[in-house]
Formats: sequence, structure tokens, C-alpha cells
Amino acid sequence: MSDRDLLMIPGPIELEPSVLAVLGERQRGHLDPVFMKRFSRVLKGLREVFRAPTAQPFVLAGSGTLAMELAAANLVQPGEAALVVNTGYFSDRMGLALTRHGAEVAHVRSPPGAAPSLDEVKKALASQKFKVMTVTHVDTSTGVLAPVQEYAALAREAGVLSVVDGVCSVGAEALDMDAWGVDCALTGSQKALGAPPGLAVLLAGPRAMAAWRARTQPVRSLYLDFGEWLAIHEAYEAEKPSYFATPPVNLLAALDVSVGLILAEGMPARVARHVRMANAMRAAFKAMGLTTLPVSEGLAAHTLSALYYPAGVDAALVKAVAAQGVVIAGGLHPELKTKYFRVGHMGAVGANDVLATVSAVERALVASKAAVEPGSGVAAAERALA
Ligand SMILES: *Cc1c(COP(=O)(O)O)cnc(C)c1O
Repeated sequence: MSDRDLLMIPGPIELEPSVLAVLGERQRGHLDPVFMKRFSRVLKGLREVFRAPTAQPFVLAGSGTLAMELAAANLVQPGEAALVVNTGYFSDRMGLALTRHGAEVAHVRSPPGAAPSLDEVKKALASQKFKVMTVTHVDTSTGVLAPVQEYAALAREAGVLSVVDGVCSVGAEALDMDAWGVDCALTGSQKALGAPPGLAVLLAGPRAMAAWRARTQPVRSLYLDFGEWLAIHEAYEAEKPSYFATPPVNLLAALDVSVGLILAEGMPARVARHVRMANAMRAAFKAMGLTTLPVSEGLAAHTLSALYYPAGVDAALVKAVAAQGVVIAGGLHPELKTKYFRVGHMGAVGANDVLATVSAVERALVASKAAVEPGSGVAAAERALA
């Protein structure tokens, strides 16, 4: 391991130097005018990143899982039914969060690497009266990119709130909450938003806020109650002092820098760059004879690749790649954990990162005596990037 190793896991990710630099500033208080200005900019900026001009943003100390639980705690009441469109490990987790907050949860599942068809989702939605439907935009355990726009349209037709777990997508994959009719979307700071871990981010659209206002029972968690946080976020957005629980001042400063970089690049350009980098990665892996876990190109995420180990190679590959200076991740889906590995390519990722990563995987495969021609992956990536 060296200080110059490249971190290419599906979060946390390599950060821009300016994002890291702001963490080294003097400690500011949570009512410091500079901090209030930053928090305000973050809240306004997130509406642009999520393309949700009328949504209410919430940013709390916690990880992506807290953002999932924030949605569950506020949008369902005990006894209400929730449908989980299940594409893997993180969809299962959403089911657990909903159950913990009293929902009756049904799943519409697909085998690992696939996503439920629109017909299957439509049928599931018609099977009973659901309050919410959740979708994992990119399931980080399988690398599957779900057709959120189409699913959300079905939920809207059925009068069901749609909740998108965008922890591995927001800031990199196309998402247009407003135009797609997504009622709630959430993420964590350490994935495609390009900030350190530690912030749970959730945007609740008008229908989600109305559903929360119409609750007849209190939210069972004090810390997670929209009711405790709404006025605080409104005050910060207006750069006015307010307090419920101390905001993570330093992490919000980092997120402010990172959201600024995202908006300077522009979401359409950023999405296009992620597509380019993902395609180059995929061309390289294909040239090396590797098979992706997603069963079709259209279902493959642009924020990470999930690939089966080739014949004769096992999970030791992850360490062998680390020995080449690039940190990648092993499998996560319980059924297939030991059979595949994952490479993250989100955030500030550029051509140099892609080539370094492809080369490290290639060198490790060659060293593992896999049937890979040295240079074949790098050549394919370079052609795709040209
Ligand atoms: C990473 C991830 C989570 C969990 O986020 P944490 O920050 O680890 O709590 C949830 N959903 C998806 C899709 C993820 O990729």
C-alpha cells in the first residue's frame, strides 16, 4: 500500500483536492455566517443535482443507510404496505428499514444481475394498495441500473409514492426527479457526490411532504423526524441561525465544494463523462474475456462494474490488484459473493484512472495465469476513449 494508491471501489471514492483541503480549515461553529452560507448553497445545489426544483432537501449526519431509514420512518406508518422493487442487497436493506418502521413489505424480485420487468412491477403494484414503492437506482451489489423512469411512471399511475435509493447513482447517472415523477430520492455523501462519508442526503418532493404531513401517527424516531428538521433546513437555506442537533460543519463544507464542482461541470456533461468512462472500462473487461454480472448492456450501471472472476481465478484477485496499486472491491451479493468483483468508477474519474485500473486488473490477471493477453484490455480502453 502506498499513499499514491488509487481508490476504485464503489464508495468512498477518490476526492478532488479542493474537497479535501476545506476539511483542514479552522473549526467553525454551526452558526458561523460562512458555514450558514455553505449549508444554504448545498441545499440549493442539491435541488439542481437531483433536478427537483420544488423538493425539500434534508442533509443529516449519517451514512446512506440513514437516508434510507429517513425515508422509511417518515413515509410509512405502521400497517401501511410498501413494495420493494428488489435488485439485490441494498433493496433487501430497504425492505428491512421499512419493516422496522412498521410497514407490511412485499418484494418483486429478479435474479441477481437482472431487474424486474415493467409488467412484473405493474402486476405487483396492482396486487394490493401500496403507500410507497422503493427502487434501488444502482444496486451496488450487482452493478444493475434499474429503469427508474419507467418504474416511477407505473407508481404514479397506481397512485403510489416512489422512493429511489440513489446512493450509488445520484451525481453520476441520469436522474430527473421532477420530470420522472419521483417523489423521494436519497444518497450518501461518499459515492457519486464526491465528498467524504458521513452525510445522509434526501430530497422529498411535494407529494412525499404531503404524505408526511397527512400522518396520523408520530414518526417513531426523534432524530429522523422531518418535523424536527424541516424548520432547521429552511432556516439554514435562508442563512439564518437555527439549532436542533449539531450539523456536521466540516463535512458540509466539503459537500459544498463538491456540489460546486458538480454544478460547474453541469449534470448532463457529468452523466456523459460517466457513460464514456464506464464504456471504456467495459470494453477493456470484454477484451480481457470477463463477463459482467448485469445480464445486458442496458442494465449495466455507469458508476461501477461487477465482473465474474474468470476460470481459475478467485477472490485473491482483489489483493493481487491492490498489489498493483489500485484498490477494487470483492463481491457483496450473498448468493454470489465469492464469484465476482467490483470496480467503482464514479466522481472525479477520468481517462487516466480508467487506464491505470484496467492495467492493474490486467497485470494481476496475467500474474494469476488467467488467459489474458497483456495489453489487450488497455488497448480496448484506449480505443473506446479515443
Ligand atoms: C452504499 C449504498 C448504500 C449504503 O450506504 P452507506 O453509506 O454505506 O450506509 C445504500 N444503497 C446503495 C445503493 C448503496 O450503494
